[in-house]
Amino acid sequence: MDVQLNGKNDDGFGIEVVLLEGDTKAPSCPHGPTLLFEKASKGEEKGRRFYACSACRDRKDCNFFQWEDEKVSETRLLARESENQSKKPLFTHRQYCSRFKVFKSLREDQRRLCQECDLLLVPEERGAHIGHKAPADDITDAQLQRPSTLLRPLENKKSNAQYLFTDRSSHFLLDTLAGRGFQKVLCVGTPRLHELIKQRNLEGKSKPMKSLLLDIDFRYAQFYGQDEFCHYNMFNHHFFGGEAARAVLQAFLGEGADGERVVMVADPPFGGLVKPLANSFSSIANTWQSLQTTGGSDKEMPMIWIFPYFFEPRILECFPSFVMLDYQVDYDNHPLYKHGKTGRKQSPVRLFTNLAPRDIVLPKEEGYRFCAMCQRYVSSQNRHCSQCNVCPSKDGREWRHCSECQKCFKPSWRHCTSCGRCALPDHPCGRSQGGKQEGCFNCGSPAHKRRACPLADAQRSHKSKTKAKKGSANQRPPKPKRMSGAARRALKKTALVT
Ligand code: SAH
Ligand code: ZN
Ligand code: ZN
Ligand code: ZN
Ligand code: ZN
Repeated sequence: MDVQLNGKNDDGFGIEVVLLEGDTKAPSCPHGPTLLFEKASKGEEKGRRFYACSACRDRKDCNFFQWEDEKVSETRLLARESENQSKKPLFTHRQYCSRFKVFKSLREDQRRLCQECDLLLVPEERGAHIGHKAPADDITDAQLQRPSTLLRPLENKKSNAQYLFTDRSSHFLLDTLAGRGFQKVLCVGTPRLHELIKQRNLEGKSKPMKSLLLDIDFRYAQFYGQDEFCHYNMFNHHFFGGEAARAVLQAFLGEGADGERVVMVADPPFGGLVKPLANSFSSIANTWQSLQTTGGSDKEMPMIWIFPYFFEPRILECFPSFVMLDYQVDYDNHPLYKHGKTGRKQSPVRLFTNLAPRDIVLPKEEGYRFCAMCQRYVSSQNRHCSQCNVCPSKDGREWRHCSECQKCFKPSWRHCTSCGRCALPDHPCGRSQGGKQEGCFNCGSPAHKRRACPLADAQRSHKSKTKAKKGSANQRPPKPKRMSGAARRALKKTALVT
């Protein structure tokens, strides 16, 4: 896989993720190995580095913190170890599987799901959950086939929000992949696609497809066997099930006797951690490549990475062979990310892929058309610019060519003669291009400030806007027990990444 990863990566938020090289081992939190962060400092001395959780951007979910050069006492290591143990799921995957068997054998009117514990209850457990909410009674077989409709979507806004595909988007994805002849889909953070594939197989009308779901949401282990689901963290490529789970992925990626073609579809949380994600996806691709026997070793693993369009530069930096498609992915439970038709807001979420764009036919009914010059399907309003020789629009609206800048811009942008460039009418005129500082600190989009960010947690405290004092991270030694001010501020900065 042609992935461009340097040791150090600026994600543009004043905080960098440093990918570890060689044998350096990061300490582990309940979510597997932590990531090494570095507070970026302009020109001055190097920011102090620290380890923090890879999966949780909110300290409330995982407050792991350790300076890179910190000496950790034996007692603290032991405490950490027992903390990690205590965060493990109630049951092992194997146990969940046998519970599922019992559950399925019950009559529908005997089946109970505890909504507070997100647990399918076996008969003897009911008493213990009596005071808990369980509105979903009489669980049908059909519902068991669609766990994403049964489980409440995780709502943690900063790290774990689950945005489920609409039928429109999930069927589009599945039909496209089936149409391209893929028989195996590696679903990374796409439980709804996974369940749709299984449903389609049950209908028996088309050639069956295999699907393996990798997700951090362990509730899904209740519904799927060990060859269909792995508890996985896509920010550090960590398999909670250890070697046995890795072997499941290996077996899935291998060609097998029938040479079924495999594609990965990932829909990660929309944080700013592009590089760690790319790192994990290229690990998957490398595994795939090492298992290739028939095809040349120069081939890339087919992949689709679903992410907002303003991450395009950063994704292409990691995966130069990827192309961003115009298709707007939309979600059932996301108030902002709806499809553009019928007056709803347009979704900024797109497909990034190394599949040939001309082969991914975007639905005509939704206004997409084929651009023969670009050799890809584009949004109805994305007009081909003869001067730029591309269909330039990223957001689905018609963009406008500026002859001075020799580039196309969003319709709202105007050429500013004093700045000598195109900008929003209310741009801070006369100030030179501020580079990274200009865009949104939250999502990285250059189009708006953090305050206007559609991805922002509306409740996020205004406190997080006050930036850590310059250099303070270097001055204060961390206190051993309570988190030091510097540590807290450093960690808070990682929260901005999402
Ligand atoms: N649109 C998808 C869901 C995307 S939401 C669908 O409809 O199937 C993001 C998904 O990634 C969720 O399923 C969530 O549980 C999972 N996820 C979040 N953080 C993760 C992590 N660190 N590692 C693996 N999966 C993660
Ligand atoms: Zn953690
Ligand atoms: Zn074009
Ligand atoms: Zn142009
Ligand atoms: Zn201009």
